[in-house]
This record gives sequence, structure tokens and C-alpha cells, in this order.
Amino acid sequence: MLETQVSSQEAIDLEDKHGAHNYHPLPVVLSRGEGVYVWDVDGKKYFDFLSAYSAVNQGHCHPRIVGALKEQAETLTLTSRAFYNDVLGKYEEFVTNFFDFDKVLPMNTGAEAVETAIKLCRKWGYEKKGIPEDQAKIIVCEGNFHGRTTTIVSFSDDDNARRNFGPFTPGFISIPYNDLDALEEALKQENIAGMLVEPIQGEAGVFTPDEDFIEKACKMVQDSAVLFIADEVQTGIARTGKLLAVCKGCNCSGARCESKAGFKPDILILGKALSGGAYPVSAVLANDEVMMVIKPGQHGSTFGGNPIAAKVAIAALEVVEQEKLAENAQKLGELFRAEIQKLVDTSDLLVKVRGKGLLNAIVINDTEESSTAWDICIALRDNGLLAKPTHGNIIRFAPPLVINKEQLMECVSIIRETIKNFKK
Ligand SMILES: *Cc1c(COP(=O)(O)O)cnc(C)c1O
Repeated sequence: MLETQVSSQEAIDLEDKHGAHNYHPLPVVLSRGEGVYVWDVDGKKYFDFLSAYSAVNQGHCHPRIVGALKEQAETLTLTSRAFYNDVLGKYEEFVTNFFDFDKVLPMNTGAEAVETAIKLCRKWGYEKKGIPEDQAKIIVCEGNFHGRTTTIVSFSDDDNARRNFGPFTPGFISIPYNDLDALEEALKQENIAGMLVEPIQGEAGVFTPDEDFIEKACKMVQDSAVLFIADEVQTGIARTGKLLAVCKGCNCSGARCESKAGFKPDILILGKALSGGAYPVSAVLANDEVMMVIKPGQHGSTFGGNPIAAKVAIAALEVVEQEKLAENAQKLGELFRAEIQKLVDTSDLLVKVRGKGLLNAIVINDTEESSTAWDICIALRDNGLLAKPTHGNIIRFAPPLVINKEQLMECVSIIRETIKNFKK
């Protein structure tokens, strides 16, 4: 059955009939990708302006990443951590140097890495800070998205993500995002172990805080002997124009992290583009003071740190560095926002454009409940560009970071024509 080419409608019907309905995809069926492009089953070509939620920063099927994957897949795929393998240590050395931390704990998905960071933070709270048993609290922000596990949805305020999934995990305090006064108040409470935050709230609609929010929040948190945990699963790995979105105040030129001059989180969470979209790879980075509270048997994952993941992640990070993707995202991001701003100024349909680097969004002049953003995405699809609403009235634009200026301008013109001709 798999040998025969499926049509779009067949593929959609199959998913509908046999798959759980936990997603509502845009109706387009993709069968191939290369760089900034994807093709559907009928051979129609599109610009990918979602990049698998920023997992494909290095572009689809990057030959170096795919090469690393193939080679390791034919050599050794999985040992589990019951034994050593000859790749993991090299990857751990590479990734800790790359991001300037003492240690890494390898996992597979973003949500697993967030869970790992929460466990690590709590354990540090009890064993280093002296928080009484079961009293540790972690500050989170309203509008957050950190994944889909039971604990993570416990501190989500998205009703759809939470309803009827309780009982929930206690120990989280939610404050408004981008609100240093609220943070100051929350830090006065007892038994705070950490603050978990996204430098830009991607799923919330690329909600970009004040320029100095993260830096100041980090300082306030660390001054209170609380761990600052940055969830850079979506914002990290060059997406926002620097290697990490928290890289403000440091000298990193967009390649390797040299955060010694600036501030840095106590725990850094990475995923998505850590593999360039070729394989599930996530990581939690921290210095010894924090990471060494976890001892053998206290946390783990059968697949975490497997040889394929290790090789793929090294290749994915080398591509980011060698192809100067952070610089490109910075430069083209500014151009993109400037061009889209012109459109915002002349169109009643758009309220604003916001974002950083190549993580941007437009806010549509309609209600959250309206279908306007969805309908615009359908029209964009018809015109050869794939994007998806994050909320009812917000569309995220996040192309692979290998996009060049000419391609970006072509996309701007697709977006412009689509918006101009759009009729509700
Ligand atoms: C996507 C995402 C996650 C979850 O990653 P999964 O691999 O889907 O589990 C966590 N945090 C942020 C900020 C994300 O964007």
C-alpha cells in the first residue's frame, strides 16, 4: 500500500480516520523538503514559514546533518546509558563548550528537557538551598508554553491545554510576563527554588518582552538565590539573531557563546533546532553546582544521549556556526519587520508586526475567535507560503535561517499580495 503515491485527500483522510485528533493541521500534504522549501504530494513548491516550530532552523534535509545521521545510523544507534558509547562524551564536550556550561544532561524532546530542568531545580532547592521537604516553588509566567506533560500543563493558563487533565502538580506560582514588579513580589515568598521563563513567548504569539526584561529578571532572581531557568527550545540556536535569545549583554558574535562578560541562566533548556529537525534531541545545560545534585538512578531516558542524537546535534550546531545563521537571522529579521511594517501602515487588516531575528508574528485586526488568521494562512498557502496561526488572530512567520535576501523579499511580496487581495 505504501508504494503507491497517496493523493492529498487520501493522506488527510487516513490521518483523520486512524490518527488521534490532537492537531488541526493546515490542509497541505508535504512529501519533500530542501532548504527553505517544501513540496506537496502534487509537486507544488512552498516557502516554509513555520520551520516545524523552529526545529528546522538549518533548513530542510541539510546534507551535513543528514550525512551525520546516516553514517551513525549504520554504525551504532543505541546502547542506552547502561553502557558507555564512543560518541556521547565527545558530544557532551562539544555542546558544553559551545554554550559555556560545565555539564549537559541529554534528553529527546523539549517537554522532557523542561521536566528535567524542573526536577533539577527542585532537587537543588532542597539539597543546596535548604528548602523544607516538598515546599519548593517555581515561578512561571502567564501565557507560557513549555510542553504537554501533566506537570507542564499544570502551570499553563491555556484552558484548552489543561481542561480535564487534572489533578495538577502543585509548586508553581504564575506571574504576568514582562512584569518586574510582580517578579519582585513573588521573590519575597518563601521557598522559591527557580524561575522558568521563555525569553520570547513563541506559542503565545511571539510575545516579545521589553528589551531589558530578561536581563533584569535574571539578575533579580539570581540575587535572591533562586535559579534562573531559560526555556530556549524555540528561541535558541540562532532563531532570534543571536545564538541564544538571552545573549544580550555578552560579546558573543552570534557564533559560540561567550557569556562570561554578561549574564547567563543557571539552567538552559534546548531542543527543536538542536538537531536541525532531523531527530528528537533536547538538552539541559547547567554548571556543576547545580547539575551535580543529580546522582545515578535519579533521572534518565533510554534514548537520551544516544549516538545518533549526539552526532546529529554536533552537525546541527556546526552548521549554525559555519553558515553564520545567527547573523543572517539578525540582518534579515530587521529587513523583514521593516518591510512588513510598511504593509501594516497601509492595511486595515493588520495591527502590528513584532519579533526578533527571524521569529516574528503579525497581529490580525480581528477577534481571537475569528477565522481571519486561518483564512489568510489558506490564502498564503495558495500563493506558495506556509504559515500557521498561533492564536485566533496571530500568525507566526519563522522561515529556516538559511533563507537569503532574495528569497525573503519574494516572501514579503507573497505576503503583501495576499494581504492586499484578501477579502473576508
Ligand atoms: C516546542 C516547545 C517546547 C516543547 O517541545 P516538544 O519537543 O514539543 O516537547 C517547550 N518549550 C518551548 C518554548 C517550546 O517552544
